[in-house]
Amino acid sequence: METKINSIKTQHNKKAKSTSQTRAARVFLKGDDLFACSRCGTCLSICPIYKNTLNEGFAPRGKLSLIEAVVNGKIGFTDKLSEKIYTCTMCNLCTTECPSGVKVSELFRAVREDLIENSKYPEVLDYLKDKIEKAYNITFDTNQGRLDWLKQVPDTDINDYVKPTADVVYFVGCVSSFSPRSFSIPRAIVKILKKADVDFTLLGEDEWCCGFPLLSSGMKEEVGALAMHNIEKVIEKKAKILLTSCPSCFHTWKHEYESLTGKKIPFEILHISQYLLNLVNAEKIKPGKLDVRVTYHDPCDLGRNSGVFEQPRQLLKSIPGVELVEMQTSKKQANCCGGGGNIESLNQALSAKIADSRAGEIIDTKAEIAVSACQQCERTLATALKKRKGDTDYKIKVMDVSEILLESLEG
Ligand code: SF4
Ligand code: SF4
Repeated sequence: METKINSIKTQHNKKAKSTSQTRAARVFLKGDDLFACSRCGTCLSICPIYKNTLNEGFAPRGKLSLIEAVVNGKIGFTDKLSEKIYTCTMCNLCTTECPSGVKVSELFRAVREDLIENSKYPEVLDYLKDKIEKAYNITFDTNQGRLDWLKQVPDTDINDYVKPTADVVYFVGCVSSFSPRSFSIPRAIVKILKKADVDFTLLGEDEWCCGFPLLSSGMKEEVGALAMHNIEKVIEKKAKILLTSCPSCFHTWKHEYESLTGKKIPFEILHISQYLLNLVNAEKIKPGKLDVRVTYHDPCDLGRNSGVFEQPRQLLKSIPGVELVEMQTSKKQANCCGGGGNIESLNQALSAKIADSRAGEIIDTKAEIAVSACQQCERTLATALKKRKGDTDYKIKVMDVSEILLESLEG
């Protein structure tokens, strides 16, 4: 069978340039990325998986050696290879820091597609795919429950939030829609949008999973239909702007949807941190004073993977009295919270270890509040900090940028 990896190999041997190559082959041919690995080991010192396992087989360099062996026909798509390739937070730190410019994460994603084709993937992905195909979300709840986070707020008229047309659509995302622990984020966002008098709407049950969990697992084929549905629903609302509060939704909408559907998206896509800063700059909302020391954790899919580093920080600095202190690693070099790449469902203990390291960095800043811009980061960091509660003589709060902004607006 012609696999993506074999396709890489064939194309490499022929040194051919063709427009019908697979994604992995294109990555590879651009600079012979796979074989450009100089084995320098830089990625070992930064990879959260390697740092917490000390197993070279799980490090980017070791995984590349395995992929090279597959390309050269020395090994096949085995369960062991699958375990290693899927043990990755997809934080992209290895790609950013590699001095040889190896596009490690892109290669991993291509290999995941091959592993799916060869039925060598973690069983949990079948459940995930099944959930999304049956209910259009990552839980087994029906999609009618998309607005439960809002319906539970007393005196709420849903018609004020789901309108036939609006200037702005807020795409809530599966986790914030269905996980009660994250409900406070969309609730804060709609409150701020109301305060700023923004003409916005939610999609309700017409919102389907953005497809990111499938895409990052190598199940690219299934995502096109989800993307097309979501784009059409936003177009029906005649919106000029689409907002997301989940960085993975943002990344998928902004960087994947057009190539997945071949459709030009006729509206602007913004992460909520960007949009809220615009509202502050346009004086639609005026943050009040909060005397507090905060640190900001860059979500991988918002920062490194989408290039949004400054707006969340500027938003925090727009709150009078906020002292922003950086962690030991930040922005492009920020360490992962341990919640990415489905790693939590594959290896919870490893995910918790990675989160614990990040919690240590937060504690070192002596910040009273750790702010992020992602429901997943907020959850993993809050859990990790709770386990470390004896390490400080005060409680460190974990908040989303929208939540701290709302707190400042409400005094
Ligand atoms: S940093 Fe890049 S060149 Fe160095 S070992 Fe890792 S992948 Fe290879
Ligand atoms: S993407 Fe992150 S977790 Fe995965 S191999 Fe690279 S540095 Fe390690």
